[in-house]
This record gives sequence, C-alpha cells and structure tokens, in this order.
Amino acid sequence: MVDFSLTETDKKLIDLVREENEIGRAFARELDRTMEIEPSRLRGVHPAVADREDPFELLEGVHEETSGLVIAEALMFMASAQDVELRDVGGHEAFGSMVLRNFGTDVQKEKYGHLNLAIGITEPDAGSDPGAMRSYARYDQETDEYVLNGEKIFISFFNKFDGAVALVKVAGKDGSRPEFGTFVLVKGAPGLIESPQMRKLGVRKHELSGFVMQDLRVPAVARLDADFGKTLSNFNHNRPIVSAVALASCRSLLDFTRDKLKAAGVELDYTQGTSGRSALVDRFIRLESLWEASWGTVMRAKWLEHKQGMYSNGYRTEASIAKAMGAKAARDITQGCLEILGPESLSEEYLAEKWFRDVRIADIYEGAGEIQRVLIARDIFGYKKELS
Ligand SMILES: Cc1cc2nc3c(=O)[nH]c(=O)nc-3n(C[C@H](O)[C@H](O)[C@H](O)COP(=O)(O)OP(=O)(O)OC[C@H]3O[C@@H](n4cnc5c(N)ncnc54)[C@H](O)[C@@H]3O)c2cc1C
Repeated sequence: MVDFSLTETDKKLIDLVREENEIGRAFARELDRTMEIEPSRLRGVHPAVADREDPFELLEGVHEETSGLVIAEALMFMASAQDVELRDVGGHEAFGSMVLRNFGTDVQKEKYGHLNLAIGITEPDAGSDPGAMRSYARYDQETDEYVLNGEKIFISFFNKFDGAVALVKVAGKDGSRPEFGTFVLVKGAPGLIESPQMRKLGVRKHELSGFVMQDLRVPAVARLDADFGKTLSNFNHNRPIVSAVALASCRSLLDFTRDKLKAAGVELDYTQGTSGRSALVDRFIRLESLWEASWGTVMRAKWLEHKQGMYSNGYRTEASIAKAMGAKAARDITQGCLEILGPESLSEEYLAEKWFRDVRIADIYEGAGEIQRVLIARDIFGYKKELS
C-alpha cells in the first residue's frame, strides 16, 4: 500500500522552516527594497535565527527518519514563502559545487571542494539554446593550461561565491568539431572580470551578476569530466525545487487571501458543489486545487528521484512536468489571488504584491516553461531534432 502520511521528523522539519520564514517576514519589506543595493547585509547568519537550528543542516543528519531526503527537502521548500535569506546561501544551493561533487576527480575535489561555486551557462546570445554559446576554451600545450574567452550573464550568487563552474565550447583537436567542456573558475585569477550586481523585479534576495573571461588561463586540472549532458543532468534535481519554492509563495498568498475573505465575511464551504457556491468562492477553491495538483507533480518527481537516485536521468520528464506545471500554476495562482484581493493586493502594507513578483522567475530560469514543454514533448513522442 502506498503511504502518503508524513513522518514526525518530516513534520518537525517543515514546522522549523515555516517558523523561520515567519521570523524573516518581519524584515521582508525593508530588505526587499534594499537587498540589491546593499547585498553585504545578507552575509552571515541573521541574529534573529542565530540560536535556532538550521533546518536544512538538520535534515542532513536525520534524513533516515524522514520520507526520504529529497522528498523532505521539497516539502520543506514548499512550507511557506521564504522572503529573505536569514542564513548565508551556499552548500546545497551552490549549483557549480554540485557539478564538482558529482563529476570531479579526487584531486579536483581536494583542490576546489571547499569553494562555493556558481553555475555559468547563460550568455548574452545563448540562454534557452546553449548550442548558440560563444564562450570558448583552447588548450595551450606549452603551459598545460586552457585559455578561456567569453561572457556569462545572469549568474546566481556569483558576486558572493568563490567562483563558478562554467560550461563553454572547447576547440576540437586537429580541426574536429568543438565539444562542450566545464571548467572551475576561481575568483582572483587575472582575466576573470566580475560584472556588477543586477537589480530585478522580484526575488531580490537572490543575488545575480555575471563575468567576462578575457584570455583567462586555468590549469588543465580545472577541466571537469562533465560534458553538456552531465552538467545539465543536475537540473533534474533542481527543477521541481524551483516549482516548490514558487508554490511556497503561493501557499502564503492563498492563506493571506483566505484570511482576507474570512474577515470580509466570505464563507469557504468546500462541501457545496459548484452550483451552490459564489463565483468568488469557486475561483478561490479552483486556485487551491491548482496548488494541490502542482504539489502532486513535485512530489511525484521527488518520489521517483528518491527511488532512482538524484543523478539518474529516469525521472527527467517528471522533473520537467513539475517545473512546467508548478511555474505556470504559480503565475496563475498569484494573479488570481491579486484579482480576488483587489486594490489591497498592490499595497506595500502587505507582501501580496511581493509574492506575485517573486514567483515570476520560476517560469524563466533552469529552462523556461516553453522549453520544458519542448523537452516533455520530445521525451513522450521520442522526437530528437524535430523540435529545437
Ligand atoms: C534570477 C535569475 C537567476 C539565474 N541564474 C542563472 C545561473 O545561475 N546560471 C546560468 O547559467 N543562468 C542563470 N539564469 C539565466 C536563465 O537560465 C536564462 O534567463 C533562461 O535560460 C532563459 O534564457 P534567456 O534569458 O536567454 O531567454 P531566451 O532563451 O532568449 O528566451 C526568451 C523567451 O523565448 C522563449 N523560447 C526560447 N526558445 C524557444 C523555443 N525553442 N520554443 C519556444 N519558446 C522559446 C523562452 O521560453 C522565453 O520565454 C538566471 C536568470 C535569472 C533571471
């Protein structure tokens, strides 16, 4: 029998995350205005949570008492909107470090394993289509180094991390076609030039910058054994998490909207059929059921990941479905709640408008919604090059 009940440890971890997010809510409005201007305010652990256990660190130690490490992690991300970073980002959120952990040799892990590394894929002319990438590496036999040139943009946390794992094209030997290669780039190397912090519509806690590689020399040991497919296989783990984070903001906005409806005397009676409830109540219940359905796609992808292993490719379609559905649902749910709430929703007195802004990113990074739908169609129908 399939058991959908949560373990006591699952519940405890979810509660810890929710409590911590609620603590952060007190600073959310002010930090939303200032975080991108003064990112240094996000360093270290915020005093408000300094004496509390870090829920995600705790998870590492107790995951055997949960429904499964990756399942519990997703449930924690979905607990409620995380408006501010009360703890330094790194570790589990450092995508480049994940690639190193996964595909690096012992020597490479020894050399770079202590660093927090961002992931550098996107370029000014290559986002959804990495094939259009122009960044290039060539091997210099005399010095046993690679020389890199090019530019990476929209790189999460590059300004605060120690460097990045960059995916670039590598000149083929003896005139053969270029192939993709990944390199560990460490800040401070001559020729690695950091771009300024970007300011954005939402997710302002999420620092964003980029870098230029100008005759950047890296030792041959900096090249990882991770081609295009291997590097992007990490997306299978991350894509449902992107949805989970957006659904968390939706959960908070749905709860806020429900409270406002209740305060206005609107009764939410789930036992009435569609003909027995008002259009307003019907709309709200439909938004909630969209949330539940999207939650189900995240859980299905995570359950398959739990069974098959994080780096299996066997759940990639479900990961894309979770990403496509959750990100689109997040846009529809936040839009719907704002329409139900009316002008109040736009007031900076509440966080409703912030949650609306914050979820938009989920349908852009780690493969936009349109790209997920192309990937799903390719997998289901067995298309290869027909859809690109
Ligand atoms: C906050 C944030 C964090 C990010 N973090 C990182 C990071 O850490 N590392 C990194 O490398 N990148 C990162 N990115 C970049 C992100 O992955 C890209 O923005 C994304 O892949 C889309 O690429 P693009 O912006 O070039 O848009 P484009 O590829 O130009 O797409 C524009 C629009 O066209 C649509 N489109 C494109 N091709 C097709 C097609 N074949 N069929 C149908 N529609 C299509 C897209 O869906 C999209 O709606 C981040 C971006 C943001 C905003």
